Amino acid sequence: MRDDSPSSVYLRCRCVALLDVLLVRPGTRLRVGLLAAARGTRPKAGSSNLNANRPPLHVVNTQAPKLKSEIRNRDSLNRVIGLKVDVDTCEGMKRGVPKLAALFRKHGVLASFFVPMGKDHTGWTVKRVFTKRGFLSKASRVGVLSTYGVKTLMYGLLFPGPNIALKNAELLRTLAEEGHETGIHGLDHVYWHDHIKGLNREETWKILAEAASVYKEVMGRDPRSFAAPGWMINEHALAWFEDKGFAYTSDVRGTSIFMPRLGGVTFEVPQISTTLPTLDEAVGLKGSDQESLAQFFVDSLTDGINILTVHAELEGKNWIGFLESFILKTLAQGFRYERLTDITTRVQALGNLPVHDIGFGFVEGRAGEVAVQK
Ligand SMILES: [Zn+2]
Repeated sequence: MRDDSPSSVYLRCRCVALLDVLLVRPGTRLRVGLLAAARGTRPKAGSSNLNANRPPLHVVNTQAPKLKSEIRNRDSLNRVIGLKVDVDTCEGMKRGVPKLAALFRKHGVLASFFVPMGKDHTGWTVKRVFTKRGFLSKASRVGVLSTYGVKTLMYGLLFPGPNIALKNAELLRTLAEEGHETGIHGLDHVYWHDHIKGLNREETWKILAEAASVYKEVMGRDPRSFAAPGWMINEHALAWFEDKGFAYTSDVRGTSIFMPRLGGVTFEVPQISTTLPTLDEAVGLKGSDQESLAQFFVDSLTDGINILTVHAELEGKNWIGFLESFILKTLAQGFRYERLTDITTRVQALGNLPVHDIGFGFVEGRAGEVAVQK
């Protein structure tokens, strides 16, 4: 039974408010559909950086199949899933990411991890309870305290925020050694989410330069990919990615991979949309238990390219059963998992990507606006 006494309700509201990370935005069932018949290009060579004793990967099969039909299946872009792992907090990085890595190892899956390069200021999200409609209802569906823990909700308020990437540098390098992709998820997740839309070129480039510098310090090489915190972006960031020669970025909700146009300018760095809703958007709306939610997401897949964003704080902790069920069901149905960088390379090799405008809109189950593919 839920305690609805005034003191309990107050406590719940205060705790819930501190969150945002979870409260990302709902996606209408965004579908790819495109490229369903595309085939014929080979995956990029980098994804074979794996331990010899790991189970065979569903991404790039290094054991060349003998049958022509198998070769066609391997090389096609049919039934592909890109797992994009957003890390929003230090707690998610420290405790959620190792569990996700173990799950992926168990099932031979490669993913793309995006990590904030700066401090964890999750406590700053308290103000969203006053500024974003739907924030509380969404937060209450996912269980804020059990997801983040009290300490994380106090970072930036009672406690100084820890450096997420620097404090977990070894873990980040381990992900890369295991064959996963690593990229940047902003510098300060909360600040980016709340302010990036209104920042000018100088402010935006300063943030990105600092994030890239930390990434290089940790990984020993320049970053090649970026995923926008909270799916918020501006044209100055896209210009910076182009200037630095990024392979792609993933900043919007949409249906496909495309060349982005924003502020009247078309940019040369491909944009890879998150095509599915996120778990927090679906909990309580599309299902309530882990199994029924996994089935909902499986039913939402297309036969083309699907990009699913998961969160280290959710699927890496209390909701890992959901993700394992989803992986098992999809592997059984012949879906293959590829890193976002490999998917982008293969799609680009097919020829010119279409240009789409980036706008801002709302998705079901999420408070606040997000960048969307038009
Ligand atoms: Zn995020």
